[in-house]
Amino acid sequence: ETDGALREAAALVREVPDFPEPGVLFRDIGPMLASGPALGAVVSALGRSAEFDVVAGVEARGFLVGAAVAQAFGTGVIGLRKPGKLPAVADRIDYALEYGTAALELPADTLRAGQRVLVVDDVLATGGTLGAACSLVRQSGAEVAAAAVVLELTALRGRRNLPGEPVEALLQV
Ligand code: AMP
Repeated sequence: ETDGALREAAALVREVPDFPEPGVLFRDIGPMLASGPALGAVVSALGRSAEFDVVAGVEARGFLVGAAVAQAFGTGVIGLRKPGKLPAVADRIDYALEYGTAALELPADTLRAGQRVLVVDDVLATGGTLGAACSLVRQSGAEVAAAAVVLELTALRGRRNLPGEPVEALLQV
């Protein structure tokens, strides 16, 4: 009864108008993750997106979901981090956001060539973040098994910025 459980989980996503700036409808998955049954449904569905050896969670909500998926499926987890947090950086990718730029860093000595990596984040919006995460993984010599998100905002057409990436979205709005 995965579908029913996911539907109930979807009902817990909170819509916050005008956050973090006017005109943006922010989708807050916090209440969903705060519910045990909803978190369980999300974690098992995400883990079934692909065969993988390790999870890479994107800072910060991707850490919460990614660590839970890793534990449930018996793998380890690594964090793809915003700049300035890591003591040792293997690689960095700068990318464009709707307003301004951002960057993600891969910690040193985490991924190995040939590892199958499940990239996890909460929301796919324009796709810049997920694209950078996938590129970091691939540049290390590892493979992207899937780029899995809880929620895809289809109106922002993020998939167009992720050609060829194995994107898996549990929920779409
Ligand atoms: P993007 O790079 O545009 O795909 O943005 C993805 C990142 O920004 C995700 O990690 C989300 O946490 C966050 N994000 C962007 N837009 C929204 C939104 N409308 N609601 C919730 N999170 C968002």
